[in-house]
Amino acid sequence: MRSQSRPQSVVAQLTNGVLLATTLISVAVTLQASVSAEGFQRRGDVDFRSNNGEVSITSDFPGGRMNQCTQISGDTFAITIAPESDPINDSAWYAFRVQAEEERTIRILLHYVGGSHRYEPKISRDGETWQSATHLISGASNSGQDVELRIPVDTKPLWIAGQELLSTDEISQWSNQLTALPYVSKKRIGRSVQGRPVEQLTITQSENPDYVYLIARQHPPEVTGAIGMVQFVDTLAGESNLAKQFRKRFAALVVPTVNPDGVHQGHWRCNANGVDLNRDWSHFTQPETRAVREQLLECRRAGNNRLCLFVDFHSTYDDVFYIPAYNARIFPAGFTKQWFASIQDRFPGYNVSVDDNHNAHRSTSKAWVDRTLGVTAVTYEFGDETDRDMIKQVASGAAEEMMRLLLALPAKNAEIANQSTEPAPSPIQSDIILVSGVSDGEEVILR
Ligand SMILES: [Zn+2]
Repeated sequence: MRSQSRPQSVVAQLTNGVLLATTLISVAVTLQASVSAEGFQRRGDVDFRSNNGEVSITSDFPGGRMNQCTQISGDTFAITIAPESDPINDSAWYAFRVQAEEERTIRILLHYVGGSHRYEPKISRDGETWQSATHLISGASNSGQDVELRIPVDTKPLWIAGQELLSTDEISQWSNQLTALPYVSKKRIGRSVQGRPVEQLTITQSENPDYVYLIARQHPPEVTGAIGMVQFVDTLAGESNLAKQFRKRFAALVVPTVNPDGVHQGHWRCNANGVDLNRDWSHFTQPETRAVREQLLECRRAGNNRLCLFVDFHSTYDDVFYIPAYNARIFPAGFTKQWFASIQDRFPGYNVSVDDNHNAHRSTSKAWVDRTLGVTAVTYEFGDETDRDMIKQVASGAAEEMMRLLLALPAKNAEIANQSTEPAPSPIQSDIILVSGVSDGEEVILR
């Protein structure tokens, strides 16, 4: 049996004593004091210029987050990163852009308030193409609350962020391109707290489809989940015979960005009201969750049509599927076991991890769909630092296996006609073993 453990980040290694810069500690202490004395703004957009005007640092762009910037000395700058509200899940998002009048290496002391370093730095010269830049980290202390970066800068802008910036505009451009296909349409299903559209794609070539429902980006920094979702959806909308067959029987409904305000404002977790949307699926206090719920209920109201699967894309430390505990009444029977087994068969070198007890009692989307709609619900998590090509490969394979398995379900009319004579289909061929009852953060390994 293979095991999988949380990879140790560069910062964790540094904090564990491999390298501890004493200068960093002393500056961090000074900085903490200055923060509590001067305060910092909760909004993440700050424009900063050094005393001599030669270095500028800004987070005033979509997705930017830097709550305070001060010059310590010469080319050393202290940046405070704080969440939109406190306390909050420790997914400390940062994104800023640096430019200098001439080539130099600057030292940036990142100080996290209300969290600690999680996302390894990514850099970009144009805000669109990105590369990993873990090598910029030169020190860390205080359990990752303070991190030192040494960054070569010059006259061309350099973006530095926790993940690739995948803005609401970029996602809209992608979905607009999809709507050029005759079987893809897009509509606004609601508006966010700040009035941004919450959009839904419909992908189908059937007049009377069954449904799968996909959502992403309830949590703004979870970019790898969004990358996986884009690839998954592109596969459903693609040219393969499998996708064509799928669209003749099913409709995929997709909400690519459930939390557009949080993404735009560079939030760590919440919407503009400071609410974690994936804890709002009991009381539905927020317009974003209400809009998606209404569409899900609409699927159920639509005559004889069936909602067959709900998938909510996220990111965490490693790739893992979170599912509700086994329930014999869930439709379609045995689907997740078959799906995960077929993904594992397809990628023998890849670890398909499943946890059926993660946030089991919280107000998450999957818990609500499972409980209220009685439909298979999955939280599909990609790792923060999982190789992006691997994400795309696995997401595409997962989409194909999903289409294949859903097409093997009995057709609606056949099922209705056979209801009294045929037992419920549960053709589980795999020897996959799912262990239940693990705690948060531990993954269950399929074998
Ligand atoms: Zn999440």
